[in-house]
Formats: sequence, structure tokens, C-alpha cells
Amino acid sequence: MQYTRREFTKNASIAAVASLAGHTLCNANTSYTVRKGDTLSQIAQRHAVSISELRRANQLSSDLIRVGQELKIPSTASSAVATGNIHIVGRGDTLGGIAQAYGISLEQLKRANNLSSDVIRIGQKLQVPDAMSSGGFLERVRAATARIRVRHENWERIVVHHSAIKYGNAAIYDRAHRNRGMQNGLAYHFVIGNGIDSGDGEIEIGPRWTKQLLGGHVKNYPINLTAIGICLVGNFQESHPTRRQIAAFIQLMDWLRGEVIPEAKKFAGHRDLRGEQTICPGKNFPLAAMHARYD
Ligand SMILES: [Zn+2]
Repeated sequence: MQYTRREFTKNASIAAVASLAGHTLCNANTSYTVRKGDTLSQIAQRHAVSISELRRANQLSSDLIRVGQELKIPSTASSAVATGNIHIVGRGDTLGGIAQAYGISLEQLKRANNLSSDVIRIGQKLQVPDAMSSGGFLERVRAATARIRVRHENWERIVVHHSAIKYGNAAIYDRAHRNRGMQNGLAYHFVIGNGIDSGDGEIEIGPRWTKQLLGGHVKNYPINLTAIGICLVGNFQESHPTRRQIAAFIQLMDWLRGEVIPEAKKFAGHRDLRGEQTICPGKNFPLAAMHARYD
């Protein structure tokens, strides 16, 4: 976690001033008042606009919002042409933290801005490449995978999970799983963040992928031996995956199935597996649509 709560708060006050300043500029759009538990990505999803559009319409430099805040909802017509994002550097921002918050790699961010060092200054405008398109979420996964030997003969199946909790990232779950006595730590091979403790759509790689170890993500041991586990952070009984999480999941699945382990032909939601007695990955994960794509 490179983005601390305090940095978010500092950014938020800058964003609040920016949004006040812009308040009279445009009132052609509808508005929405932030309620407890809302996230920017959920609001964007609910109104069928992109996060970048929503951020831009409200001159937000981070995803932090507060209860009672009025947000302008841009008309959906323009969201289709949104291809990238501008991030205005706030106090406490680091280049790595910004990249993580948008689910892209540091290298992608530097390349998009022709930066040769990691030095940035407050108020600097950064182009943030759109990871939603052209496999942008995969860059770090590809690089890490290029350094290992994939055990093709081993993998038969890919299983999708939710974490059943709103918070967390690969490191946090790794610790929890070790505390539960799992020697190899993090039970999943990949974790896809929701923008809270890792980037929104950021794909984190667990040691079970880099070491090509069996999973620990289902109860059935023979299935663990041959199944890759992908976990999306969130409780999808209560909330929805973010648009970026779904985009990242599809990019990861298409790449794994198309290029990396085409042998893993079987696809399942955790609850599809017999005897698992779970609702995972939650009723709001689009499991039927993913079966249509991957069966
Ligand atoms: Zn599960």
C-alpha cells in the first residue's frame, strides 16, 4: 500500500477546493449526493459513466469522496470517447502510488508522460493511460510471467472468487492465509483490486503463480492441485465488482486462456464446484456472462 489514508485525505481537500472552484462552470448535467458507503466507481457504474468522466466532471484529483458531497453526473453520450485520464499531482503523491491507484504499471505511467525519473511536483498534470483498453492491466503480469517457467501440463481449470470482504489486497490476504496455517500463503494465484487497498483493476500476482504452486482456494484438494485461482477484492453479495475489475478480469482470462495456459479449458465460479458449499463469487459477479464467454 503506497497510498496512505492521510494522502487520500490531503488529496481530498485539494479536490474539494477544486470542485468548489468549478461549481459554477457547468450545470447542464444531473447531480448526485454522496451517501454513506458509496465509492466513486460504484456511482460511475450506477450512472453508466466512466470513472474518468466522473472525476473530470467534478475536477477530482483522487477517488476520495465524502458523505453529502454533490457530484455532477456527466451525460453518458460523452463517456464513450473517454480514452484517458488526467491526474493532477497532490501533496504526498508518488508516481508509484498514482500508477497503483489507476491499476497500471509505473513504467506505463512514465512512458505516457515521457518521464525519465520518478520526480513529480504538486500541481503537475499527468496523462494516465487507459488500462481499460488494449490489455493495459496486464503489463506487470506479463513481465512477471516472462521470468518464470509455466507448468503447462499442470493446469486444467481456472476458478474465480470474491474475497467476501470490501478491503484487502494480496499482501493482506497472504498474511491472513499464513495465520490460518497455509504455508504457501495467499491461497489465490491472482488478486484483482477494487481501488481501496490496491489499484482499481490492479492485478496482483501471488507467489503461487510465480512459483507455479498448487492453489489453496477451494476445499477439494485434487481440484486445488490443477486449478488457478483468481480473486476479485469485494463482497459481491453486497456490492458489485467495479467496471475496471471486470475489465481486468477479462483481460487476465483472455490472456491466460489464449496465450499462457490454453490447457486450462475448464472455467468455474467457486460455487459451481460440487461440495464447496459457498456462494462465492457472490450474486453480483456476472458469472453467467463469464460462462458464456469461457465455456
Ligand atoms: Zn471462493
